[in-house]
Amino acid sequence: MKNLSIAVMTLTMSLTLSANELNKEEEKLQNFITKHVEKIKPLEKQTNLAYWDASNSGKSEDYDKLSKLQLTIRRIYSNPNDFALLKELKQSGQVKDPKLARQLVVLYNAYLRNQIGPDLLKEIVDLSTKIEKKFNTFRGTIDGKEVTLNEINEILTTETDSAKRQKAWQASKQVGNVIAPDLIQLVKLRNKAAKKLGFDSYHTLALTTTEQDVKQLDQIFRELDELTRAPYNQLKADLDRILADKYGITVTEIRPWHYHDPFFQRAPLVYEQDLDLYYKDKDVKELAQRFYAGIGLPVDVILAKSDLYDRQGKYPHAFSTDIDRQGDVRILCNLKNTERWMETILHELGHAVYDKHRDPDNLPYLLRQPAHSFTTEAVAMFFGRLSRNAPWMHGMLNLSDQQRAEIEKVSTKYTRLQQLIFARWAMVMYNFEKQLYANPDQDLNTLWWDMVERYQLVKRPEGPPDAGWASKLHFTGAPCYYHNYMLGELLASQLHHHIVHNVLMLESDKDVSYVGRKNAGDFLRQKVFESADLYHWNDMIAHATGETLTPKYFVEQFVE
Ligand SMILES: [Zn+2]
Repeated sequence: MKNLSIAVMTLTMSLTLSANELNKEEEKLQNFITKHVEKIKPLEKQTNLAYWDASNSGKSEDYDKLSKLQLTIRRIYSNPNDFALLKELKQSGQVKDPKLARQLVVLYNAYLRNQIGPDLLKEIVDLSTKIEKKFNTFRGTIDGKEVTLNEINEILTTETDSAKRQKAWQASKQVGNVIAPDLIQLVKLRNKAAKKLGFDSYHTLALTTTEQDVKQLDQIFRELDELTRAPYNQLKADLDRILADKYGITVTEIRPWHYHDPFFQRAPLVYEQDLDLYYKDKDVKELAQRFYAGIGLPVDVILAKSDLYDRQGKYPHAFSTDIDRQGDVRILCNLKNTERWMETILHELGHAVYDKHRDPDNLPYLLRQPAHSFTTEAVAMFFGRLSRNAPWMHGMLNLSDQQRAEIEKVSTKYTRLQQLIFARWAMVMYNFEKQLYANPDQDLNTLWWDMVERYQLVKRPEGPPDAGWASKLHFTGAPCYYHNYMLGELLASQLHHHIVHNVLMLESDKDVSYVGRKNAGDFLRQKVFESADLYHWNDMIAHATGETLTPKYFVEQFVE
C-alpha cells in the first residue's frame, strides 16, 4: 500500500523518481527469490535437523537421510537455466536496490560454484571419497608394526630419543605418499571444472565465490609475514634451545620431528601449565551462561535447545547450528569441567549469539547468515580465547590476586607462542595451496619444504623429500579454505582492539576481562550480528571498526 501511494504521487513528475518501485530486472529477481526461498527454506531446515539428529545418534540411517537432503539442495543450485537468469540480471547492472543487489551476489555465487557439469562433479566426488577412505583406513608403521594416530601423538609429546621420534613422525606422514597421486589428480579435476567456468584455477574460483580476492589475501599474508618474522624467529630460538636440551642434541640438529605436532602447527607443551586445575570444581556451562548474560547476550534459550553432554554414538567434538534462520539456534558439545571445554563452549556460543541476535524482521531469508564463515569464526575465537585469559579467570572463578599473577606469567607467553606458531603455519598452507593449484605438475614435495623453511623456519630432513604434505586432510576435504582460520584470528584481534579502545574507552587491554561489560555485547550485536550478510564482509568490518581487515591488531595483541 505504501509503495503504491508513493508511486501515484510521483507519477505526475517522473516514473523513475519513485524510490520504492522496482524496475523490470529487480521485479524479475524478486519473483525468482520468492520462488527460490519457498523451495530452499523448508529443505534447509530439514537438512539442519537431519544433521543435528545424525550427530546426536550416530546412526547410519540418519546420515543417509542427511546426504539425500544435501544432494537435493545441490541439484537446485546446479540448475543451468536459473544460473543463466541470475547471470543475465547481474550483467544488466539494473539491480540497484541494496537488499536485492546483495541477495543477487549471494545467489549468483551459490549457483556459480555448483555449475560444474554432473559428469565432472561425479568424478570429483568419487575421487575425494576414495582418498578419504584410503586416509581413514591407512595405518602408519614403525619398524613394520602398525601404529594409531594416538600412539604417534603420544610418542611425539613424550619421547626423548630422537631416532624414535623420527620414526613416529615419518609414520604420521606415510599416508601422504599413498594418497598424493590421487590428490594431485583431484586438484587437476577441480582446475578443469574452474577453467570451464572461466577461472584460471580452482583456487581463484573458491576465493571468488566466497567474495575473497587473491591480491587482497596476498597483501594481508605478506604484511603478516613481515610483522611476525623477527619476533617468531626470537621465540622459536628460545623454544629450540629448550627442546635441544630436553633431547640432548644441539640446536642445529633439530628437525621437524622434534616438535610435538606433525606439522608444527601447535606450540609444544614446554611452557604449558595445568589450567584444568582452576576448572575442575566449577561448572563450565554455568560459567558460560553467567558470562554471556552479563554482557547482555543471554544464551538461556540456546542452551535449552542444545545437547551438551557426551553419550554413546554421539559426535565427539562440538558445533553450533542455526536450524531455521528464525531463532532456533543450538550447540552440540561433550562438556567436561576442563579448560578445553570451557574454551569450546565459549567458542560455540560465540557462533550461536551471532546467529541468534540478528534482526530477522529487517533481513530477507537469504541474508540471514554471517557476513562470511571467517567473521563468525572470529566472534567464536574472540570469546573462546577468554578461557585462558587471566583477568577473565580472575573475574569468573573467584581467584586470588596471586593465582591470577601465576596464570598471567605462563599463559601470556604460551598464548603468544601459540598464536605466532599458528600464524607462520597458516602462511605455509595459504601459499602452498595457491601454488599447488597454479601448477600441480611442479615438484610439490620440494615446494612444500621451501615453504616450511621460509615461513616456519623448520629445517627440512636430509635426503629426497617425500609427499608427507598430502597427509594434511584439508587439501582433500576442505580445499582452499584454511586461510579463513587465520583471517578469523586477525578479525578477533581487530574487534578486541576496537572494543577496548573505542567502546570501553581504555588505554590498554591489560585488565580487560569483559566480565559484566554490557556495552561490549551491545557493540557486537549492533555492529556485527544485526546486519548479518547485508554487506560484503570487509564493508561490515570497516563499518564496525573504522578499518578494513588488517593484521595490525593481531600483531599488537600477540607480538611484543
Ligand atoms: Zn568455530
